[in-house]
Amino acid sequence: MLQRLGIEVTEVRLPKDLEGLDAVIMPGGESTTFAKLAVRFGLMEPLRSFVNQGKATWGTCAGLIFLSKDIGRDQPTLGLMDIRVKRNAFGRQIDSFTAGLQIDSIEGPPFPGVFIRAPIIEQVAGNVEVLCTLDDGTIVAARQGNMFVTSFHPELTDDTRVHEYFVALAESCRPKAA
Ligand code: GLN
Repeated sequence: MLQRLGIEVTEVRLPKDLEGLDAVIMPGGESTTFAKLAVRFGLMEPLRSFVNQGKATWGTCAGLIFLSKDIGRDQPTLGLMDIRVKRNAFGRQIDSFTAGLQIDSIEGPPFPGVFIRAPIIEQVAGNVEVLCTLDDGTIVAARQGNMFVTSFHPELTDDTRVHEYFVALAESCRPKAA
């Protein structure tokens, strides 16, 4: 999706892979596995310091969980974003669904939100801005400064609008040349 927007991308697996990057995406997957691997490969502190430098960071689904301060259970997370999260809030894999979403700052028709064993944001604190809720008020996207999270998977659609939003965020977080 980013390449379609003309953005150069690389995979981050080890701390040295973060060098020189403007932004990072913590993808979907399985947050318990992320935590194990990030601890084992020494990525926790390098990722925290990357985010704390104010560089744009997007967590989708498991990535959202990984950025959160409170997930209500004992599982390592980066613990950076002032949100309380509930994992697997819609049920199991078979309960996956797509919903048309209105997302703040994203114009045009409803965005196709793909939810796969998705978490929800139960509570936000500090200066967290809610960007999207389902019809029943459930929070599924939010931003806190340079951190952006979605409980759905924009990369599984053909719609690049959320990626465009993130690229604009990354531009705005980039240190200005003196
Ligand atoms: N259920 C997964 C978790 O708890 C997240 C699923 C996903 O990223 N699609 O980590």
